[in-house]
Amino acid sequence: MKVERVLLKDYTTLGVGGPAELWTVETREELKRATEAPYRVLGNGSNLLVLDEGVPERVIRLAGEFQTYDLRGWVGAGALLPLLVQEAARAGLSGLEGLLGIPAQVGGR
Ligand SMILES: Cc1cc2nc3c(=O)[nH]c(=O)nc-3n(C[C@H](O)[C@H](O)[C@H](O)COP(=O)(O)OP(=O)(O)OC[C@H]3O[C@@H](n4cnc5c(N)ncnc54)[C@H](O)[C@@H]3O)c2cc1C
Repeated sequence: MKVERVLLKDYTTLGVGGPAELWTVETREELKRATEAPYRVLGNGSNLLVLDEGVPERVIRLAGEFQTYDLRGWVGAGALLPLLVQEAARAGLSGLEGLLGIPAQVGGR
């Protein structure tokens, strides 16, 4: 788990957003610890307008095991949709075509 002070403008598509404490969690155990205080969740940042004053709550970003998936069974909430759609196409699986081009994580969608 990584905890750092960041400017959220570096994590949003629109490039806006002030300081926050960013918790990057890679396992369920880390997620449990991260959610023991008030928090917000950051996905891929493509649908966020964050104040210049920043965010007082901790901001959780899903990485590690949350970005993994098995196309025939389950998908982590931190998986990137564009990658997922590409992988499904390569595997000859249909059903995700409607999500093509959406720059989001699964959890944010
Ligand atoms: C260039 C561009 C093209 C787009 N095209 C489309 C399109 O074609 N169709 C479409 O529908 N949308 C589109 N969008 C909108 C955007 O991609 C969606 O709104 C997407 O759902 C945002 O996902 P994100 O992972 O970036 O979430 P963020 O912007 O990071 O977060 C959005 C919200 O979801 C919450 N959230 C994020 N992850 C989680 C999680 N794991 N658990 C709980 N809450 C979570 C956040 O707290 C926040 O409230 C587009 C956006 C851009 C910038």
